[in-house]
Amino acid sequence: MAEIHDTVILGSGCAGLTAAIYTARAGLKPLVLEGHEPGGQLSITTLVENFPGWPDGIQGPELIANMKKQAARFGATYQLAHLVSADLGAHPIHLRTTEGELSARTLIVASGASARWLGLPSEQALIGHGVSSCATCDGFFFRGKEIAVVGGGDSAMEEALFLTRFASKVTLLHRRETFRASKIMLDRAIADPSIELRTNTVVEEVLGVEEKEVRGLRLRDVASGERSELAVSGLFLGIGHEPNAKMFAGQLDLNEDGYIQTTGNVQTTHNGAVVAGVFACGDVQDRRYRQAVTAAGTGCMAALEAEKFLEARGR
Ligand code: NAP
Repeated sequence: MAEIHDTVILGSGCAGLTAAIYTARAGLKPLVLEGHEPGGQLSITTLVENFPGWPDGIQGPELIANMKKQAARFGATYQLAHLVSADLGAHPIHLRTTEGELSARTLIVASGASARWLGLPSEQALIGHGVSSCATCDGFFFRGKEIAVVGGGDSAMEEALFLTRFASKVTLLHRRETFRASKIMLDRAIADPSIELRTNTVVEEVLGVEEKEVRGLRLRDVASGERSELAVSGLFLGIGHEPNAKMFAGQLDLNEDGYIQTTGNVQTTHNGAVVAGVFACGDVQDRRYRQAVTAAGTGCMAALEAEKFLEARGR
C-alpha cells in the first residue's frame, strides 16, 4: 500500500519551512512540495532587515536556504512539485501533484501569494522583454537605462530603491495621490535623487509590442485625464500579490480577496465548518500583515495544530 504521510506541506516559503521545522522536530517527517516558486517571496528579495535575530539584515535567499537546511536536519524531505488537485474531504486526504498521487493525514497549506499584473495585453506580451515583476531577478538587465515601477506600497518602494543600483532613472507611478507604503520606505524613495514619484498616474499601454522590446509607456493622469508617453526600457510591477488558493475553491472558505479564511488562527473551514486536518498559514491566509516573521509565526501555529490533531487521533 502507498505510504500515508503524517504531514504534507504545500509551499516552501517562510511559512511552509517554519511548519516543516516544527513538524520535523515533532517526528512527523513532513514532505514539503516546493511549489511554483520554490523558497517563496523571500527567495526573490534582497536584504531582509526586519527579521528578528539578524542585526545587520540577511539576504532573503540565504534566510530561506537556512530554514530549509534546518528542517532537513530533523527529517523534512522536499519534492519539486506542485498541487494539481486535492480531495480534502477524503480520509486520508488525497492529493494529486505534478509528480504523482499522495495521501496525507494532515495538510498544511502554505502556498503563499504570487505577483499581481496590471492585465494589459501589451504588458502580458512583453513579460520577459522589458516587463517584469521581480526587480531582484531582472534589474541587472537595465544597467544605465531609464525604467518605471508601478505601485504605491512597500514592494514598489523596495523595487524602485533596488533598481537605482542599475537604472539611470526610476519613475515610480502610482494611481492615487497618497501612498500605502510605510513612512520609512516612502521617505527613502523620496530622498533618492534618481527616483521620480508620479502620483495619480496609470499605465494604459506598454509600447514596443511590435519591436518585442519595451520602449515606453502610454500614461494617463487620472486627475486631469491628460495622456502622455514616458520613454523607458523597462516596466516593473510592484502592485501586490494574489493568494495561491484558487485550487481550493469549493473545498475551503475563501474571503472576498481570495485568501483562505481561517478560524483559531490556522484552522481551515468549509461553509463555516472545520475541515479536519487541513491548516493554512502564511500569505495565503494573511491579507493584512504579510511579513516574513508573521508567516513564520503562523507556520509554527499550523505545525503545532497538525501535531495536536494527530495526537488526538492516536497516530
Ligand atoms: P500592497 O501594500 O497591497 O500595495 C500594493 C500597491 O499597488 C498599492 O499602492 C495599490 O494601489 C497598487 N495597485 C494594486 N493594484 C494595482 C493596479 N491594478 N494598478 C495600479 N496600482 C495597483 O502590496 P505590497 O507593496 O506588495 O506590500 C504587501 C505587504 O508586504 C505589506 O504589508 C508591506 O508592508 C509588506 N512589505 C514590506 C516590505 C519591507 O518592509 N521591506 C517590502 C515589501 C512588502 P492602492 O494604494 O491605490 O490600492
